[in-house]
Amino acid sequence: MHQTHFVAGAAAWLGYAVATQPGHPLAVFASAGVAAVGALVPDLDTPRSAAATSLGYPTRILGWGIRKSCGGHRTLTHCILGTALFWVLAVAAHRGFPHLLPAWAVLPLVTGFACHIAMDMLTIEGCPLFWPFDTRKYHLLPEEIRVRTGLRPVAVAMPPRGKGQPKPQPTRRTHTRDGERRKRHTAEWWLIRPVTTAATVVLAVLVAVGR
Ligand SMILES: [Zn+2]
Repeated sequence: MHQTHFVAGAAAWLGYAVATQPGHPLAVFASAGVAAVGALVPDLDTPRSAAATSLGYPTRILGWGIRKSCGGHRTLTHCILGTALFWVLAVAAHRGFPHLLPAWAVLPLVTGFACHIAMDMLTIEGCPLFWPFDTRKYHLLPEEIRVRTGLRPVAVAMPPRGKGQPKPQPTRRTHTRDGERRKRHTAEWWLIRPVTTAATVVLAVLVAVGR
């Protein structure tokens, strides 16, 4: 899901910039880029994520440590406490290395991080917002319309056929060879990514024309 998070992080910052005082377009675009990177950070706890593989072994080991010590994916990095800790770390990194992380980049970075959690709350899995005090997963959408993640088609089990009902005819588009399962693209593929990409383009144009 990292491509979607990247685009959504940029869109979130561009939306914020358009809603407030846009400032110089180049400054807004730079901040949106930082927000896009910040939106990748929470999935550090996933072995093959962009964040975990970004700096090789150091980030892989850090991700492994978070996963092992916190009990898996979507724990410390997907809750309010984790966002607050990340903010503190970002401020500390700015104080220690102001050339590496300038003051203007801190808020976009944390905004991207928080945007990732909001996006994950649209999914079936949800986020444990109040981890570690409460490990229940919280969602932004009702159960029926929660988003399935992934950009490849997934096999979806067909409902069991009653006696006497015709066997579904396998087609190349909807059924695998046995005719019992069909493949569907996830909502991330057909809805979330196109919408966030379109929003990013529209908002970037609005920033560029100085709205
Ligand atoms: Zn995530």
